[in-house]
This record gives sequence, structure tokens and C-alpha cells, in this order.
Amino acid sequence: MNVLVINCGSSSLKYQLIDSVTEDVLAKGLCERIGIDGSQLVYQKAGCDKIKTKAPMPSHQEAISLVLNALMDPENGVIKSLDEIGAAGHRIVHGGEKFTESVVIDDEVIAAIEECSDLAPLHNPANLIGIHACQKLMPGKPMVAVFDTAFHQTMPEYAYLYGLPYEYYEKYGVRRYGFHGTSHKFVSNHLAEFLGKDIKDMKIIVCHLGNGSSVSAVKYGKCVDTSMGMTPLEGLIMGTRSGDIDPAIMEYIAKKENLDIAGVMEVLNKKSGVGGLSQISSDFRDLEDAQAEGNPAAIRTMAAFEYRVAKYIGAYVAAMNGVDAIAFTAGVGENGPVTRTGVCKFLGYLGVELDEEANHKRGFDNIISTPDSKVTVCVIPTDEELAIARETVRLVEK
Ligand code: ADP
Repeated sequence: MNVLVINCGSSSLKYQLIDSVTEDVLAKGLCERIGIDGSQLVYQKAGCDKIKTKAPMPSHQEAISLVLNALMDPENGVIKSLDEIGAAGHRIVHGGEKFTESVVIDDEVIAAIEECSDLAPLHNPANLIGIHACQKLMPGKPMVAVFDTAFHQTMPEYAYLYGLPYEYYEKYGVRRYGFHGTSHKFVSNHLAEFLGKDIKDMKIIVCHLGNGSSVSAVKYGKCVDTSMGMTPLEGLIMGTRSGDIDPAIMEYIAKKENLDIAGVMEVLNKKSGVGGLSQISSDFRDLEDAQAEGNPAAIRTMAAFEYRVAKYIGAYVAAMNGVDAIAFTAGVGENGPVTRTGVCKFLGYLGVELDEEANHKRGFDNIISTPDSKVTVCVIPTDEELAIARETVRLVEK
């Protein structure tokens, strides 16, 4: 079955058409600047160059319509008709406490995703627009919702509660939910498989280090803690997000910089992180380059980033009373050997020993610790789209 995987943002949409039998990506791409002047469709058939087409996309429906046309294009397409798409899988950011796993989309599910929109006002409404657009363009096609939060729903109460008035949890759902769950689940399962072990016997820490970054503790296959919180702002220092700070800083900065709440949130979400700290770039490639040239701002920024990751690893070793394996994944987790070394240099007390030659290879599942290392450290490339496609097929074929 071919599965169309859709990841819908407020003004963009990423898509992949995946053959679920071979797990090959037949075509992929994105729509940019939906609802804004200058929108563009990027389409790439497997093994071919990207084709960029400027086309008006007043709404997500036009965007998805253009994607479907590109997939069926007589010259560059990969399918002849919509009948060749068996199902669609949608990435949904927030499933609140309602969704502990992926579900087939029906009216009830749509209403429940709407109810969770308060918790992710930028993301869930955009995700829903994608669902509605697909329903109009491919009526009757089975669709599945895969939630970023679902994998983390196994966290114990003591890990997800904040030290706030309990009524905020009861009335408003204020608690830790965690994100990147599709990736944490995919990587932890894949790691166990790769090492030839049963995940039910393993304590795993997954470090998903990209533009958005999070760490999770996966004990015997279940998430027991994760660094992102009620929103993706908590935890690690990220590309442009601050991660953990003293909450009182918000009032202090608001007064000093004459900002309202929206202004402070803008600073914490968009102007902070490694970008704000370095004042060089929020892109880890630029920072690693500047660090290699001895740039002091890049050096202090990467040190702070790596230290925070190591601190979370330490916390999760405590949470699980041990760790068997640590996995690095996502943009810099998969591609940044210097950053991985920087994190692991704090982990000597765990008996972690890196094999620097292995650490400098990239692009495949790899053990980067020495055979003597007490904890196995791996690079496991994540693939959230493939995970969504697998979930979609599992539920549609049930
Ligand atoms: P997201 O999905 O959150 O946008 P990604 O997982 O794609 O993020 O990661 C993006 C980050 O990964 C960027 O900061 C990018 O610089 C970094 N990255 C990608 N390739 C490399 C590389 N070769 N070396 C270091 N960092 C890299």
C-alpha cells in the first residue's frame, strides 16, 4: 500500500509518498508560504532532482491539491490515479491525555483533536486543516492520526506533574506531555533491534538533537520521562528556544525590555537557544564550524548545549536506576561528531567510552562506543515519516 504522509504546519506542509511494502520513499517535498505571497511547491521523485514550482496556494487545500497533481503528473509523477494511494497518515502535534496511541481518524477523533488545540494553538489547528483538506480531496480514503505526544503518555504521575496548584492540572491540563514521541519510539525500538536485544529488557536514553531537541528515558519499551513539557519550550537549549530557565526571568526581562507576555514568549521561542546565546546562528553546522575556528561565542554556546544534554542524561539514569544504551538522533545528533563527543565527555562516571573513529562515520545505524564501554552509545538515524507510514498501515489493515 502507498501511504501519503502529511505534516501540516501553519504556512507549510511536508509530504512523502511511501510504499509500505518496500518502505521506499516514492516522492517527497514541501509546500512553502501557504496563504502568503510567493508560495512554492517543492517536489522530488526518488532518484531525481527537486522540481520547484511557484504556484498560488491561498489555503492548504490548494497546496494538497497541487501535491496530488504532482504525484500523478504524467511526466514526473509516481502514480497514475488517487486509487494508488491506500491511506494518509497525519502528524498531529498534541494529543493531550486523550490519545495514548495512533488512531484512525473519524468525526470523534477530529473533535478530540480540536479539544486539544488550546494546548498547541499554533500546531493542532494547522494539523486539522490538513485533515479536512485531505477529506475533501480524497473522500473516503482512510486516514490515521499519529501524535507527537502519544509515546510519552506512559510517564508516571510524579514525572509529569509540575509543582503548581493541582487545580491547574485538573482544570486546564497543565502537565508535562513531551513531544518528538514518534521519533523517540522509533529510535528506541530500532536501537534494541539493531543491538539484537529485546527492548523489554533495556533502559535506553534517546537524545533527539535537532533544531528542536529533546531527551527521553525509555525503560523496558515505555517512556518514563522526557525533557519537553506542556509545550516544546522546556528542556534542552535548542536552535532558537531557551529550554529550561528560571521562570522569574520572564518578569525581569519584561520589565527591563518593556515587553508584554507575547513579547517575552517570542524571545523565548524565537530569539533564544544556541542562536540567541551565540549571536552567530541557530544552525548547528555554522556553530560547529565557528567552534572549530576557535570562535569564543560558538565555544561557550556549544559547551552550554552539550552540558544541558549531559545533565538530562544524568537525570534519566537516576529515573531508570541505570542505562544500557544511549542513542543520538536527528540533525546534529546524527551528523555532529564533535557535539556527541562534547556530551559524552561528561559521562565518564557511567563508564562511557567513545570510539572516535566510529563516531566520525555517518549515515547509518552505528555503535560509536568502544567494546569496553559500560554503556553502548549509538547513532540511530530517525525517520518520523516512515514511522507514521508504518502506524498508518498497521491501523488501516487491522
Ligand atoms: P528539525 O526537524 O527540528 O527542524 P533537524 O532534525 O532537521 O531539525 O535538525 C536540524 C539541525 O541539525 C540544524 O541545526 C542543522 O544545522 C543540524 N545539522 C544538520 N546536518 C548537520 C551536520 N552535518 N553537522 C552538524 N549539524 C547538522
